[in-house]
Amino acid sequence: MRDPVAKASAGSNPAPRIDRAHRGVRRRAELVRLLEAVPDFVAGRAPLEQVATPAEAAAEMLEAALAAGDLVGRSVADLGCGTGRLAIGASWLGAGRVFGYEIDPSALRVARAASEAVGVSVEWRSGDVRDWDVAVDTVVMNPPFGAQTRGADRPFLDRAFASAGHAVYAFELAASRSFIARRAVARGAYVEATRPVPWELPRVFPHHRRARMPIAVDLWVIRTDRSP
Ligand code: SAH
Repeated sequence: MRDPVAKASAGSNPAPRIDRAHRGVRRRAELVRLLEAVPDFVAGRAPLEQVATPAEAAAEMLEAALAAGDLVGRSVADLGCGTGRLAIGASWLGAGRVFGYEIDPSALRVARAASEAVGVSVEWRSGDVRDWDVAVDTVVMNPPFGAQTRGADRPFLDRAFASAGHAVYAFELAASRSFIARRAVARGAYVEATRPVPWELPRVFPHHRRARMPIAVDLWVIRTDRSP
């Protein structure tokens, strides 16, 4: 006699779905570990707003880009890459050519060593974001939020919209929501998603009073290919 359970499940084998979910959870945990191993700034410079993206938030952005088809085989630029968390994570997840662009050469030295330790390939370049003119498919960035120098995020947004052929993934303060949405629309880009991400600022600058301070940060997904 045939086993009724085996018969019932024969046509709709649920195992692959569970496997995929497990693989996703495992990849996420591995990604977070990898991002945590990319060092933070040695002595973050307040005027440049040098604070590394928290590993969980970085993983959230990179996995969103992965799921949307904006990483695997795509050219990617990380503008204001700092010590390189986003660029290294993008390369590890299968991006094609990856650029890390940063004004501070000492941060780039940390980034280069970290990418070598992980064994991923990133083209590290030094310069001011205002001079970034390489066309890529996808921009990922955690730019200065403009908390120290008002408007510091503007050249990042403008260069990102000009550079990305498909999409821009960016972290920004929730307080900047309407400004960023207006900026995107003015550039002919399409805001696909804005969602809050958990974000705690460690005490890195002398003007920070508390050991850890939660701040309201959004993850933005903005399409530049104008196909909603
Ligand atoms: N993206 C990194 C670091 C975020 S901090 C991460 O995810 O961890 C913001 C970074 O922007 C700093 O490394 C700072 O040095 C860099 N930066 C600030 N102004 C810049 C400019 N005008 N051009 C290029 N990089 C700049």
